[in-house]
Amino acid sequence: MTIDEKKLRLYGVYMQDKAGHFMLRVKIPAGVLTSDQAEMICTLSEQFSNSILHLTCRGSIEFHWLKHVHLEELFTRLAEVGLTTRGACGGAVRGISCSTTFAPGFAVVQGIAQKLNRHFAGNPDFEGLPKKFKVGIEAGYQGSRHLIQDLGFVMTEDAGEQPVFDVWCAGGLGREPQAAFLLDQAVTEDLLIHLIESVVVVYRANTPPPKRLKFLLNTIGEDEFRRLLQEEMTQRPQPEPPGLGENTPLAPEGSYLEVPIFGGEIETSLLRQLATIARECAGGYLAVSANQNMNLLAASTSETKALKSALAQQKIKTEDPDILTRFRICPGKHECRMGLAPTRDIARGITAAVNKTTRGSSWAISGCLNSCSQPQLADFGIVTKKLSTSEDGEKQPLFDLYRRDGNALGKCIEEDLSASALCELIDTLK
Ligand code: SF4
Repeated sequence: MTIDEKKLRLYGVYMQDKAGHFMLRVKIPAGVLTSDQAEMICTLSEQFSNSILHLTCRGSIEFHWLKHVHLEELFTRLAEVGLTTRGACGGAVRGISCSTTFAPGFAVVQGIAQKLNRHFAGNPDFEGLPKKFKVGIEAGYQGSRHLIQDLGFVMTEDAGEQPVFDVWCAGGLGREPQAAFLLDQAVTEDLLIHLIESVVVVYRANTPPPKRLKFLLNTIGEDEFRRLLQEEMTQRPQPEPPGLGENTPLAPEGSYLEVPIFGGEIETSLLRQLATIARECAGGYLAVSANQNMNLLAASTSETKALKSALAQQKIKTEDPDILTRFRICPGKHECRMGLAPTRDIARGITAAVNKTTRGSSWAISGCLNSCSQPQLADFGIVTKKLSTSEDGEKQPLFDLYRRDGNALGKCIEEDLSASALCELIDTLK
């Protein structure tokens, strides 16, 4: 049977290898899922995969090592608990991310993330784009994730009738990292869908595949982009707000406990335990954090106490001084066919090399130039750039080291390092 890879991408599927294994990405708006949803994901992983799930930096969850014949059943059973994979890969509006999990304002932005997801996931008017289109919505500027979205919304006010946002546009990482520019300010919630639709239409009409919005901006310039956008917004009718439908109950905000997960690789046995604990002591919600860990909400002091006790009973750690659990790691060569380096192994080596001064910093490593772990937003980021061939014919990955200082994207400070040279350099960093 011939497999149409392009079509599969629209359903959140990438081919992992030539042996016929597939990765399936599930969209989780703002990273929040219910205990029931988490349990369904575990059941499907145990039935069709290897009982290990991958938590992404955009709050999605990935299955690996699936067979083509099982995909249809996965789609159906995920839909039974209100989850979709449609548009999680390929040229579509991707999962709506939020990195400010359970921070003040999170309940508001999480609700909007759900609405945006419902509006764009599987909406044929906004599929078939030249490449991916990433939307992020944040409760504040902490973490700077607005810089790397095609459209990033940062809530600046939540006191009036409607929340109000700064709008950042045309950011992205990959081979040519570029920070988003400030497109607009004081934009109210009711205008967001119209604005996103208009930007997507301008992008699709003017950008050659497989380029992203940042390419269009660099080609035509900000003034021309703004003119095209204004023209589209004037012509395009405002969508009816009731069409967005009702939200599932919102995960409120409050303090939370973070369960560290090395490289976002979580076994279903642990996720099941967390789903049960969340149901009994944390409002029935779990959240995938932007650092690939699991968060559990503790909305009151008594909930915090109950949660801590339930986690301790199951011997689940919530605090871990090891930097490995604060190290964003993409699947790399372990599971991704684009991967040039075994990212988790390299991360372990780096952790052993990190000195006392930089141990408290944030770290990220990506297995290729696509930068899925967002290394340019970590204090120290490592990007696998290419393979070199040694004298004895062995292929070795070479790495670039990035350093972030201030609010912009991190800058490359050293290029083409072997794994051992990288560790030696990291040992000397101040
Ligand atoms: S950065 Fe490259 S290797 Fe890592 S997950 Fe993304 S595409 Fe795969």
